[in-house]
Amino acid sequence: MPSTTSPRMRPALDAVPGYTPARVPDGTAPVHRLAANESPYPPLPGVLERLAVTAQDANRYPDFGCRELTAELAARLDVPAAHIAVGTGSVALAQQLIQITADPGDEVLFAWRSFEAYPVMTRLAGAVPVQVPLTADERHDLRAMARAVTERTRLVIVCNPNNPTGTVVGRAELEAFLDQVPADVLVVLDEAYVEFADDPDHPDGVELYRDRPNVCVLRTFSKAHGLAGLRVGYAVAHEPVAAALRTAAVPFGVSQLAQDAAVASLRAESAMRERVAALTAERARVVRELAAQGWTVAPTRANFVWLRLGDRTAEFADACAAAGVSVMAFPGDGARVSIGDAAANDAFLRCTSRFRTGGAAAQEQASRQAGE
Ligand SMILES: *Cc1c(COP(=O)(O)O)cnc(C)c1O
Repeated sequence: MPSTTSPRMRPALDAVPGYTPARVPDGTAPVHRLAANESPYPPLPGVLERLAVTAQDANRYPDFGCRELTAELAARLDVPAAHIAVGTGSVALAQQLIQITADPGDEVLFAWRSFEAYPVMTRLAGAVPVQVPLTADERHDLRAMARAVTERTRLVIVCNPNNPTGTVVGRAELEAFLDQVPADVLVVLDEAYVEFADDPDHPDGVELYRDRPNVCVLRTFSKAHGLAGLRVGYAVAHEPVAAALRTAAVPFGVSQLAQDAAVASLRAESAMRERVAALTAERARVVRELAAQGWTVAPTRANFVWLRLGDRTAEFADACAAAGVSVMAFPGDGARVSIGDAAANDAFLRCTSRFRTGGAAAQEQASRQAGE
């Protein structure tokens, strides 16, 4: 008879917060995917041609050391190859960073709200997430974060620009913060959206890491480079950290398709920059129109906007889904909406316009009834 006892598993799993992927709109309306901050464009010029060749060797394991991609990155960033660790997306590298620094009970410090994967990965390691609230204007509170560092802190994550708010920390305030963090605590600068951060005051993590052995920079090919489906990202850090990251990696995790597509994408840099320019122009248009509709939007330097909707978040996401627009909802808090192509952004702006008009009408009706 089969036993009803389930195998023993780590209690830490019970503390892992649930991850809710964005709803995919149903029905016949055209689908605009604005929930995952993906690029709306196909792979960059040269990528598909390279993939067609690489695919012919799919019977072979990939290059364990990701040598060509590492060399290409090292040359472009002007860093030693030994300072680079390639991973199956930068989210895997973030998980490896937690694994190499935090024992059960140790603390991982980050702002909140920030990237939804941080608390999941921290809990999975048995470590304790310490979440420092954003300021009222949706920015990292670096002073409060510096004060929140304790004896148990092993890792600090600064997501810049921040997912999901799009806000950034400037160079001077970030440097002042880094000066305050003890030298034996690793600080991760998660720069998944750095290509979109067109502010002259935006700190370049790779410049900051050079004379700071406790700084690690994470970047990805999933966003501006448009390779989210292939899972490839990288870390830049001094050798002890980069070497530990390579030790903690799943063997042969980064496929040859991913490695070669990333190399081809780097070589198509000017086309990537043009696409980023088109998306940041669309971003400016979306922010302008939202303001004209009466919305308050945090200043965003990423490829998405953040609408703080509080209790109406789920209702808003439902209204968008009904109109064929998928957005990322954090119920009770807000919605993150990616900048897509012009048609997708127009569809989103029609949703926001209708929602505001509907909301204002509902409010008026409510106050009329209250006055009766
Ligand atoms: C999208 C994203 C990543 C990158 O994810 P990949 O695993 O590289 O696809 C990392 N950090 C943040 C904050 C992100 O939003």
